[in-house]
Amino acid sequence: MTEEKPDWCPGCGLYGIQTALKQALSELNLEPHKVFLATGIGCGSKMAHWINVYATHTLHGRLLPVAAGAKLANHSLTVIGMGGDGDGYGIGMGHFVHTMRRNIDILYLVNNNQIYGLTKGQASPTSEKGMKTKSTPFGVIETPVNPIAFAICSGATFVARGFAGDLEHLKWLIAEGIKHKGFSLIDILQPCITFNKINTFDYFRQRVYKINDNVGYKTSDAEAALKRSHEWGDKIPIGIFYQESREINEELEPQLAKEPLAYQDISSIDVAPIMEKFV
Ligand code: SF4
Repeated sequence: MTEEKPDWCPGCGLYGIQTALKQALSELNLEPHKVFLATGIGCGSKMAHWINVYATHTLHGRLLPVAAGAKLANHSLTVIGMGGDGDGYGIGMGHFVHTMRRNIDILYLVNNNQIYGLTKGQASPTSEKGMKTKSTPFGVIETPVNPIAFAICSGATFVARGFAGDLEHLKWLIAEGIKHKGFSLIDILQPCITFNKINTFDYFRQRVYKINDNVGYKTSDAEAALKRSHEWGDKIPIGIFYQESREINEELEPQLAKEPLAYQDISSIDVAPIMEKFV
């Protein structure tokens, strides 16, 4: 953590996400030295510098391999990944799929502002069709990625959507995602007030509703979750879409059964030949 204050644009949705994350960690009584945050590249990925936990600001689209590596090296840590929609659903899409199907016990927060903010306003994988940006002056022609549907179909065991304008709800989702054993995705609607003039705070406030307030909604029903994930327009659902219990990768790795790798005594292993090979 640095002494500097966040330099996000005043009014950016990232301030709300930072507050919700800090409050969730604090309410769960997680000690800072037992939490590791890996971030990608983007406005929100600068979070690594502004939260009091162990953190690494990694490469564009590569935060999930770093988060997964940290979890496998020391599975007693709470490991969180954070990046943007371009980072995770574009450049890092391959890592996203394979981390989900392995069901590694990490929480992945995606600050989804539907634009590339740090590089000043190009269309991202979640930009809406027809949206005019610096890279699409005549409007986006592609269909946007649906991260909720994609995660449900790729083996994520906790799939949720939050909104940066509803801190209490987002804090609750983050806490539930941390408590969940397995890979958790929280796609967060995060208005970029500078470069996305369509998907604003007002736009979402008029549309979001909470699926888990509906007594008939069952988070164990994958088919219902998938159907709900396609709802986007006048009404946009937020909350936990899908949750299941499945063996995590760390339980299936025999080398991790005794204790975290980081605590295992390797003094009897001669590492000199390996070092010789690589150094
Ligand atoms: Fe936030 Fe957009 Fe400014 Fe980046 S460019 S800090 S996402 S408002």
